[in-house]
Amino acid sequence: MNEETLAEEKERKLEDIKKEAEERACPVQRSLYFVEEFLAGPMCGKCYPCSLGTYEAKLRLISIAQHLEGVNEKDLDALKRIASQMIVGSYCIKGRNTGKFIMDILTSSMDEFQQHLSGICPKKECISLIEYVINPDLCIMCGKCLEVCKYGAIIGEPKKPYLSGYSPFEIRQKRCTKCGECIKVCPVGAIEVITTQIEEPVSSK
Ligand code: SF4
Ligand code: SF4
Ligand code: SF4
Repeated sequence: MNEETLAEEKERKLEDIKKEAEERACPVQRSLYFVEEFLAGPMCGKCYPCSLGTYEAKLRLISIAQHLEGVNEKDLDALKRIASQMIVGSYCIKGRNTGKFIMDILTSSMDEFQQHLSGICPKKECISLIEYVINPDLCIMCGKCLEVCKYGAIIGEPKKPYLSGYSPFEIRQKRCTKCGECIKVCPVGAIEVITTQIEEPVSSK
């Protein structure tokens, strides 16, 4: 395979990454996926604005997605700075397009990025910011969720006719990996995903 063909392969991969990233509804998850995949694949490390920029962008996006201690507006400012520097200073089109991808997503979804700083993922895709819970008013105690949970996160006893005194089914948050398997099998929609609202971090501005 000659150099030109190799370059074309890489360009196609960048397009594939973009398509895959766009399957995610949450803009933080979308940009994190794009940046991580770019770092793992097409990014060659030959110039600083792109190689250092994408690495720093990844760390900032992880902080936002996981609402790590100290995350604040400065992380959003840093992402804008990184994107601008990549657009202007990247040596090749791949770095410039990655910078543009980050800048476009920040511009179009700034409200959602801001909500993440308060510990809220509106699309409920950032797993550090959500919980799976069972609504006891809807649960019919069939036990289907218990059967599919591989992590022993669900407690409860399936209901048998003519017996009473059951405890309601519950999800133990410490064991739940948020894999989403239980919600797929619940026949009555009793399992809900809720946002875990975390105390707003103090802005350093
Ligand atoms: S901009 Fe291009 S040359 Fe520079 S590190 Fe990124 S992929 Fe490599
Ligand atoms: S989301 Fe996954 S780990 Fe959590 S309770 Fe449901 S099946 Fe178990
Ligand atoms: S699958 Fe749904 S209805 Fe059945 S026990 Fe679990 S939460 Fe309750």
